Amino acid sequence: MQIHNLSDENSILNTFISEIRDVDIQKDSMRFRRNIERIGEILGYEMSKSLSFKTQNVTTPLAEIAVKTIDNDVVLCSILRAGVPLHNGLLNYFDKAENAFISAYRHHLENPETFEIIVEYLACPSLEGKTLILADPMIATGQSLLATFEALKPFGTPKEIHLAAVIGAQEGVDFVAENFPKNTHLWIATIDKELNSKGYIVPGLGDAGDLAFGEKLQH
Ligand code: URA
Repeated sequence: MQIHNLSDENSILNTFISEIRDVDIQKDSMRFRRNIERIGEILGYEMSKSLSFKTQNVTTPLAEIAVKTIDNDVVLCSILRAGVPLHNGLLNYFDKAENAFISAYRHHLENPETFEIIVEYLACPSLEGKTLILADPMIATGQSLLATFEALKPFGTPKEIHLAAVIGAQEGVDFVAENFPKNTHLWIATIDKELNSKGYIVPGLGDAGDLAFGEKLQH
């Protein structure tokens, strides 16, 4: 897997990452959602450089010009619910993309430190020969991403796979690298070293779904 860690380079992206991590700033859920969306836009822009381009003639009011535009049929798939703001950011740039949504959540077992990933809802177009962008803001263990990828298999074989993420734990990123096809690209804003015993990324940012949409009752 090719890993593109965008915070290796200094850019405005690092300001957005610092704001979603900051305990005081992240409380503003509208700002939190918008920052995740802005990160999605940056990931989409960087990712676009690796796609295929075709030459297209465009007529301006003054003349014709040949321009290069994206040639890929993009399907954007996100994991509910935390993936929604990241999805919106990517869709702001890949505005002609088809869309897929999947629900995956952690079902905690008797021991609170163990959980299984439950996939329930899935709406997806054909993926055959298309460019699949799979968005998951937080790659903790990598299990949700893998469960999603497995659930998408009956919808066809994409010609290429791009994963988009905001923060990953090194352990989760390694797991994803081992379990996804070799030619997969991972576009990630930043990678943290640790994962705690409850499956949270440290320092991370906390619960991305709760910060974007409010706390939920545990069941
Ligand atoms: N999901 C989150 O929202 N936060 C984490 O740290 C890990 C998974």
